[in-house]
Amino acid sequence: MLRLFILLIVWTLPACHAQVLWRSKRNIPLTQDSPDVPFRDGGKAAMPRSQQLALIREDPLWRKAIALHYDALVMDGHIDVPTLMVSDPNYQFRRRHKTPPHVDLPRMVEGGLDAAFFSIYVGAEYPEGRESINRAKEEIFYLRRQLEGLEDSVRIATSVADIRNITRTGKKAILLGIEGGHAIANADLEVLRNFYNEGIRYITLSHVNTNSFADASQSPPKWGGLNEAGRNLVREMNRLGILVDLSHVADSTFWDALAVSKSPMIASHSSARVLTENVRNMTDDMIRALGQRGGVVMVNFMESVVNRQFTKAVMEEVYERLRNDYNNNYYMMWQVISMVQREKGLRPGNLDDVIAHIVHIAHIAGVDHVGLGSDFDGATMPDGLEDVTKLPYITYKLLKAGFSEAEVRKILGGNSLRVLAEAERIAASLKASP
Ligand SMILES: [Zn+2]
Repeated sequence: MLRLFILLIVWTLPACHAQVLWRSKRNIPLTQDSPDVPFRDGGKAAMPRSQQLALIREDPLWRKAIALHYDALVMDGHIDVPTLMVSDPNYQFRRRHKTPPHVDLPRMVEGGLDAAFFSIYVGAEYPEGRESINRAKEEIFYLRRQLEGLEDSVRIATSVADIRNITRTGKKAILLGIEGGHAIANADLEVLRNFYNEGIRYITLSHVNTNSFADASQSPPKWGGLNEAGRNLVREMNRLGILVDLSHVADSTFWDALAVSKSPMIASHSSARVLTENVRNMTDDMIRALGQRGGVVMVNFMESVVNRQFTKAVMEEVYERLRNDYNNNYYMMWQVISMVQREKGLRPGNLDDVIAHIVHIAHIAGVDHVGLGSDFDGATMPDGLEDVTKLPYITYKLLKAGFSEAEVRKILGGNSLRVLAEAERIAASLKASP
């Protein structure tokens, strides 16, 4: 009996393997050059089999969701894990951790996340100038070191072609974006070009702090938006092919950047203000305008920017407390929000809140202008999206909400890929013109 059992195993093993190979080959489309062709990676469903079966038993729609999720290119606009790589000696990207942290390679595989901008995060405490430049370089150094030896599984990408080449065989593509424009010390174009050469492909014009060229949403304004140096920086970002990221900036900075940028822009991790009244979120006018110019709002999952219990009235109380007790120090915003949430007994944010933001932005700007920007490892996550392994639940909920397969592919990553491709195309034409 045992011999028969072993024989059976030996006989079925190569068959399973062949099936995987066949599947990954089948998933590679013949043409991948046009942004209109829905892009597929070579991934297989890495969710544990028992979990897949349990979910399908719960709702047969899960069968479609799982197949779609692991076949689609899933791309995240904002993950803060490089900060952990610098600050936590126990964190190793190659190893599976218990949540939190939210992201590591084994869980990225399980969650079917194919490509992600890892945030080279420079906190407001680093003064603009040499210190903030060095901090950014330090994070890039540590990130590259953590990826050493993992070339068979994960690689750094600096272009759409890279993303496609890396992910088509099921590998993970990591892109670099700087969060905190003050790292481009005084909008110095030489510093900008050096960061481009280091692989940086987006820059968040400000973090919570207003810097020497851009007003932030959580600091007192200084320039009324972007000053001339800031506008020049945007022009040079267009020319190089670095995406302009408008998460965190003041509304005035958003509109100034929109007026000057020739390339479509992104909000790498922002949600909708009409649903959750918070300066970190975007108004419907902003969402519409960004979309009309080809841009993408990558929805932030952060508990307190998606929780729809933070109504206008609740947030007015938050703002009043910031005014009265914290001298209008918006850096204290998240602490005050948690305080008010506790006192009022408001429920935590959840997956349905995130879906509501995606649906709203798709409704306002069109389904071509919404994506994912989790803020994993940079924020508290809502219930149901505790870490990167939960991403397939977004696909399921989007199908459940009535989006077609093609639309879900766009939201999961197609739109983010397109905006990067467009920035590359415009950079090439700007470089070609005198
Ligand atoms: Zn942020």
